[in-house]
Amino acid sequence: MPIATINPATGEVLKTFDPMPAEQIELCLRAAVNGFTAVKRTSFAQRAAWMRAAADLLEADRDKLAALMTTEMGKTLAASKAEVTKCATGCRYYADHAEGFLADEPRDAKAVNAVRAYTRYQPLGPVLAIMPWNFPLWQAIRFAAPALMAGNVGLLKHASNVPQTALYLGELFTRAGFPDGAFTTLLIGSDKVEAVLADHRVRAATLTGSEAAGRSVAEIAGRYLKKTVLELGGNDPFVVMPSADLDKAAEVGVVARCQNNGQSCIAAKRFIVHTDVYDAFAERFIEKMRALTVGDPMDDDTDVGPLATEQGLHDAEEQVREAVEKGAKVLLGGKRLDRPGWWYPPTVVTDITPQMRMWHEEVFAPVAGLYRASSYEEAIEIANDSPYGLGSNAWTTDPAEQERFANDLDAGMVFVNGMTTSYPQLPFGGVKHSGYGRELAEVGIREFCNMKTVWVG
Ligand code: NAP
Repeated sequence: MPIATINPATGEVLKTFDPMPAEQIELCLRAAVNGFTAVKRTSFAQRAAWMRAAADLLEADRDKLAALMTTEMGKTLAASKAEVTKCATGCRYYADHAEGFLADEPRDAKAVNAVRAYTRYQPLGPVLAIMPWNFPLWQAIRFAAPALMAGNVGLLKHASNVPQTALYLGELFTRAGFPDGAFTTLLIGSDKVEAVLADHRVRAATLTGSEAAGRSVAEIAGRYLKKTVLELGGNDPFVVMPSADLDKAAEVGVVARCQNNGQSCIAAKRFIVHTDVYDAFAERFIEKMRALTVGDPMDDDTDVGPLATEQGLHDAEEQVREAVEKGAKVLLGGKRLDRPGWWYPPTVVTDITPQMRMWHEEVFAPVAGLYRASSYEEAIEIANDSPYGLGSNAWTTDPAEQERFANDLDAGMVFVNGMTTSYPQLPFGGVKHSGYGRELAEVGIREFCNMKTVWVG
């Protein structure tokens, strides 16, 4: 992939960048080591003050930054602005809570024949963060805020199609007061990831992205024995049961599928509907999908903009084409729009079978699959018949059934009567091929800490 800003709404190449040469990568690694030496000696209070300053900068830069994100990856301007605001909130959350999350944890000293015993959380050092374009600011910030508050430093390898957002992030934390080298952007392609991860100065890595990228980074990290957190793809089920509020479920389902132009790991992708309410739900859902406005992502009235990359458009087209060839039916959309840029409209597909790629694969576009289930058991069977296990949604007003879903859905997150959303306060992550480790909340900040056991006799 070239490192370039290409407007997905038009296909126009706006700015290209040369990848950093090896000497410059070396300078960044040295800066990260020096940055770590400086950052780890600072107090929580000092880092919290810098982190709050970063939040203030994000808010001050919001409109310009949002326009840049929309230009680089096509999400609506309103969504970009909301993302900037969410990032400021995330920074403040860790500024407020990091010290408490990482306070020494007393252990039962008597049981281990000690005078004192406790767990102390200490930073690991430079962490490589490999990030995707779909939430170009939030994905990076939800790593950076806890990492820096813990006293780590970050090296960001961002997706090649959001280089200007990456460069903004590379300056943000030093502008806020953090020492040089605290958070550095490496403008490199994925072919350079191995060399950086193998370097002895890099202590760990986090990757948010596709399953393929996750496998590759996990293999490299395994070879060099580096800790990793992987946030990978999802094919989230959205189960609708007879007791559900169908209007609300359809309304939220459309947002859950089409947010971010259909390109969210935690988007609801498979709508599994109990046969008793299938027709009633399908009618409402399709009507609301049809009512979405597809258009220029800079316009206030737009609900769905273009896909971020030409490859993404090609992949979605192929997945739907293959399903149709094998007998699936398209109830809405299903064809790219005939205009410059990479446009795929809100689409609803039914009669999807396990012989089709769509049954097993994530579709990273506003394409909803509709599945019919004759019972709770069949709904769970379809929902769990996936290599992924990231988020999941269940719609039921029956408290006993809500509990059953919470137990039975094979996913890292279960949202009942609502859509999966990342909140700084809630652990975020998946099981199976959706990855491992958790981000956010107190568990997220501890992922890149040495949980040191201290025993004093
Ligand atoms: P991607 O192609 O995997 O790219 C993600 C990042 O990994 C980019 O920086 C990319 O760099 C890099 N990369 C790609 N292949 C690599 C490799 N072999 N070795 C090292 N680095 C590699 O994913 P994407 O298309 O940008 O993002 C969409 C995917 O991310 C979807 O599957 C989505 O579900 C997932 N995602 C997951 C979460 C979560 O929290 N679980 C959140 C958001 C997105 P280049 O751009 O230079 O190729």
